[in-house]
Amino acid sequence: MFNAWFITKTGNDSRASLLQMKEEELPEEAVTVRVSHSAINYKDALALTGTAPIVRRFPMIPGSDLAGIVEASSSPLFEVGDKVVLNGWELGETHWGGLSELARVKAEWLIKLPDQFTFAQSMAIGTAGYTAMLAILSLEKQGVVPDTGEILVTGANGGVGGFAIALLAKLGYHVVASTGRPEESDYLKALGAQEIVDRAQFSSPGKALAKERWAAAIDNVGSHTLANVCASLRRGGVVAACGMAQGIDFPGTVAPFIIRGITLVGVDSVLCPMPQRLVAWSRLAKDLDPTVLERIATQRPFSSAMNIARELLAGRIRGRIVIDVAG
Ligand code: NDP
Repeated sequence: MFNAWFITKTGNDSRASLLQMKEEELPEEAVTVRVSHSAINYKDALALTGTAPIVRRFPMIPGSDLAGIVEASSSPLFEVGDKVVLNGWELGETHWGGLSELARVKAEWLIKLPDQFTFAQSMAIGTAGYTAMLAILSLEKQGVVPDTGEILVTGANGGVGGFAIALLAKLGYHVVASTGRPEESDYLKALGAQEIVDRAQFSSPGKALAKERWAAAIDNVGSHTLANVCASLRRGGVVAACGMAQGIDFPGTVAPFIIRGITLVGVDSVLCPMPQRLVAWSRLAKDLDPTVLERIATQRPFSSAMNIARELLAGRIRGRIVIDVAG
């Protein structure tokens, strides 16, 4: 028997509860992982609370991140006792996920836990930190370097935002953080933001072209914010679009693209191919100051996952919540 958060659907209503399950109920995949830690990402919060149609197959165990020890493996890629991490691959959407004491997954989805990190630290990073690193890699691919100019991070107090700020600052960038929570300025500055701006300046419909300011940006917010960030990028600027905390729409114009030659790059952590994941995790092991993890992440018990999900969607969570599944 093992404990798991379990989402069922009746009619149009989905409901999550913490249940005892039998091991034989797990799906047939090559690797069984004894989960040590997981996390609550924005998407996991939507799934747990049934706020958006994240779950595409019911019943579902939520949780897009997990870290733990291989308990059984029929794959040559992993042996019993290996320490592993998994991010994305539609866990918690179409495959049973990490908010569970046991998970059974494809070997091709797992990476070895980098030596630099504990299970808890790898989940403090989780999808958020790995996505922030993918965004930085995509900016670098477009030629963005620290002396290109100011770089804007939106959704600064969120998980992706926090890691983007910390990583960019460590790499030598001049980081400006956009937030709706100015009371968290000390936290954002401790992560490495050199300036804090009010997110309200990006939230409403704006001009097709605004005053040029940002050399590059990492956007976690979408909607008018992304459109306004595009409109205020400098000539040849680049924005990496990661998220949609304000909305999934993109109410912009082509003006900044065809008049200032800006570039919009998309970041997908979920089905990102394994070679890029390995690059992202090796860069995290190299470029992330581990003391940042204590600032960004808070550990909470397994039973609190639903309450955390509600708090996160209400905008009351700062940084990352790691879930101590093994307790
Ligand atoms: P969090 O909930 O931790 O952070 C989101 C942040 O966005 C909040 O802390 C807040 O920052 C800001 N925000 C929230 N609501 C609004 C609003 N209405 N208008 C403007 N800003 C808002 O989420 P994550 O950091 O984990 O994820 C951020 C986004 O990225 C989500 O949309 C998520 O789904 C997406 N994502 C995408 C991935 C990918 O592969 N592309 C992977 C991971 C996440 P503040 O209080 O500072 O203003």
